[in-house]
Amino acid sequence: MAGPVQKEKKSEGRSGTISLMTLDSPITAIKGVGEQSAEKFLKLNLKTVNDLLYFLPRRYEDFSQIMPIDSIRPGKITVQARVESATNRYVRRAMQITEAVLTDKTSKIRAVWFNQPYRLAQLKKGEEFYFSGTYELRRNQYVLSNPAAERVSDLTTNTGRILPIYPETKGLKSSKIRSTMLELLPLIKMLPETLPEVIIKRENLMSINDALRCLHFPDSTDEFERARERLAFEDLLVLMLSMLTNKQANAQLSGLAVEFNQTSAQEFTSSLPFKMTNAQRRAAWEILQDIAKPSPMNRLLQGDVGAGKTVVAAMAAFLTAKAGYQSALMAPTEVLASQHAATLLELLQPLGVSVGLMTGGLKAKAKSLLQKQIEGGGVHIAVGTQALLSKDVRFNKLGLVIIDEQHRFGVQQRAEILSKNHATAHLLSMTATPIPRSLQLTVYGDLDISVIDQLPANRTPIITEVCTPHNRKKVYGLIDSQLDAGHQAYVVCPVIGNSALEELKSVEAEYVYLKKTVFGHRKLGLLHGQLRPEEKAAVMQEFKAGNIEILITTTVIEVGIDVPNATVMLIEGAERFGLAQLHQLRGRVGRSEYQSYCYLIPSSGKQLPARLHELEISQDGFYLAEADLKLRGPGEIYGEAQHGAMPLRLAGTTDLKLIKRAKATAEWLLAEDKNLLQWEELNRRIDNYRKLRTLN
Ligand code: ADP
Ligand code: MG
Repeated sequence: MAGPVQKEKKSEGRSGTISLMTLDSPITAIKGVGEQSAEKFLKLNLKTVNDLLYFLPRRYEDFSQIMPIDSIRPGKITVQARVESATNRYVRRAMQITEAVLTDKTSKIRAVWFNQPYRLAQLKKGEEFYFSGTYELRRNQYVLSNPAAERVSDLTTNTGRILPIYPETKGLKSSKIRSTMLELLPLIKMLPETLPEVIIKRENLMSINDALRCLHFPDSTDEFERARERLAFEDLLVLMLSMLTNKQANAQLSGLAVEFNQTSAQEFTSSLPFKMTNAQRRAAWEILQDIAKPSPMNRLLQGDVGAGKTVVAAMAAFLTAKAGYQSALMAPTEVLASQHAATLLELLQPLGVSVGLMTGGLKAKAKSLLQKQIEGGGVHIAVGTQALLSKDVRFNKLGLVIIDEQHRFGVQQRAEILSKNHATAHLLSMTATPIPRSLQLTVYGDLDISVIDQLPANRTPIITEVCTPHNRKKVYGLIDSQLDAGHQAYVVCPVIGNSALEELKSVEAEYVYLKKTVFGHRKLGLLHGQLRPEEKAAVMQEFKAGNIEILITTTVIEVGIDVPNATVMLIEGAERFGLAQLHQLRGRVGRSEYQSYCYLIPSSGKQLPARLHELEISQDGFYLAEADLKLRGPGEIYGEAQHGAMPLRLAGTTDLKLIKRAKATAEWLLAEDKNLLQWEELNRRIDNYRKLRTLN
């Protein structure tokens, strides 16, 4: 019995084809890809040659061992054999079987194909092929099922090698992607190195040519890991160099210093109805020190939902106003912007600071009046939605920009507001989503970070329960008793109007239903994003004032909303949301000393996803964000818009070890001045990403 033989150097590639393709060529420039297949490639988001080169296989199947027929075993196998006979027959009306007898020097084997009548023409008697398929028992007989068949040559696509299995789409199978990739092989071999030699040596990386070849044409299964590492490392290095050079450039900018004023700081803290927590004080101190420097601050204030970020921001805005500069506070929704304006007004107007609210819904006359006041410097703090980004909003002396719930904005919008009047205004971004360490380095690597890691002392954990739809009655009963005690409740529904998915509760229908049935005796309010701005504001005001007892709402209240008297959160269709998002929604209650409750009800009793139970056991946003990162990927945590903008073709943002290595290398490069400038491609990528983040 002979052992397996290894086909020689099958990935050496076609010789002699000089390719005119470049990396930026559209995918149709590749031989065999017409307009029609291009459309299918587009479904996988593959537009250019470059996209395809960095298209990561999902897994590999090893067909590389060519076995003599007398020694094959059940499983995935490859044989090199001649066709002895081949026939086609119908077994049923719609089922055609092609059968062939294949022989090599050692023995014979039967192969079958189902509904592939064209096989017969391919399987010419006496010709030799590689056959890769599954050797298995069918109707009491071992056969080779549905094998791919390719003429014997030293360069095959679908047989006799380790086969990459790519993500596929309708009408575009891995076999087609593989044959397309094969056309790129000459290009892969000619690609100039994209990383400086010193880095390749220092980090012991594969060359770009080897890495791309191994990714798509691996000779062994462990090669692939090194290939992935090389490519991911490059992306992360670009990211780290962008972050670090941004940070350096930022430190060079000269901005305005908001001098620290002890008296004003005390005036602020003593006007508060509560004592700031130590964590709040520490964060405030870091921010105030930072804005006192002439180089612009670029800082992220991170604190779990309910930790009290708003007062810290208010303190910074207050001192900025006292120093004679304006602040802009941007929030992702009108509801939240109005709430912030109200909070700041209450806190700061008594201290002589004026606050203006700029939203898209403002009437033309009121808007132009407000614009004049902002431009003239009469408004110290302009609060608003994206409406603040409008060209017509001009500041007199913008000193501080605050972005609340920053993950709701794209990097572009962040850069846009900063470029108002003073490109050098201080920037304070805020987020309630605690950021896993890996993302802290990658996504926020050019920011300084302050953390509020402590909740105000008056809080007790929110009692959280995942319920089946059958338990709904019990939950309604509990809501009733909380309302009797003078508290309020939220009912969150996943969609606004009727949805194609019938089982999903719509907020409109639910409002009508609850009003007619269980909560006929209660005061209900309806809130969703499609209401007119003044309607939204009115509903929120009524809820805040306690005139609405139950707010039936969509996720518009997900971020920021602060009504401390609300103690019950009921989330319908809970399986539709990520853990981080559910944690945010839950954070709308438990904002006071009152015991609060959160109930999660999936759309149907059949689907009680296990992950929901994480919320029962944890109130820790950091833990839940890590869990979400693993389950749903980084987009969930810091926003798809920001994720999409990152220069990552194939690195994940979760590989902390590789991220740290890339960071260390970037630091080393910058310190050693390794003449990075001569690396055009690298610099182009770094510049592109930096521009996105800063608009400089
Ligand atoms: P978040 O960090 O989620 O934005 P907020 O700033 O909205 O939280 O604050 C949540 C609630 O806690 C608000 O009602 C706020 O007035 C209150 N709060 C903030 N700091 C304290 C504190 N140190 N002690 C008691 N209550 C506080
Ligand atoms: Mg907030």
